[in-house]
Amino acid sequence: MMAGTMRADGRFWQRMLRLAGYYQGKIDGICGPLQRAAEAAWAEAVERGLREYGEFDARTEANIATLLPEAQRAARAWMREAVAKAERLGVQVRIIGGTRTYAEQDELYAQGRTVAGKRVTNARGGYSWHNFGLAWDFGVFSGDGKRYITDGEQYAALGALARAVPGLEWGGDWKGFRDMPHVQLKRFASVAEAREVF
Ligand SMILES: [Zn+2]
Repeated sequence: MMAGTMRADGRFWQRMLRLAGYYQGKIDGICGPLQRAAEAAWAEAVERGLREYGEFDARTEANIATLLPEAQRAARAWMREAVAKAERLGVQVRIIGGTRTYAEQDELYAQGRTVAGKRVTNARGGYSWHNFGLAWDFGVFSGDGKRYITDGEQYAALGALARAVPGLEWGGDWKGFRDMPHVQLKRFASVAEAREVF
């Protein structure tokens, strides 16, 4: 998803600003002075992360932009290590997924159910870790960047780097279903808790 889509969903964007700790106003989708001040604080925090860890490829940047500022910073800290590691492994790494609004998640959920296509998720809006600005998925690409490698041992090597970044959790460490390309900032014990707060 693009950051612009997220901001176009007024209430969702206000919830993101609130979860980031910058907004205490109403969740009504109407932008006022409180929201503008929150957006300025958000932009400043994003800028700090950028200065600290630098910028990555366009696709990664588009996805990072959908995360909460503290998750953006953590994603950059992880990416810096992941890019170096990927280079040693002869591949490229990019962040290929970030936040999805509830509406976008519902659309995805409908695929293979009420609309044509292959089922891609079991989570409806509010039931995915990707609905709260904290989670991203990465992809591994061939050394020339042209071919997407859907699975391979590189996922374990790159995902495991998240263990060294404070606050991060890697889906490959989950008990039960191991989600190898998934990394998130650990702020909630469960999706249910995240949904409650959000
Ligand atoms: Zn994921």
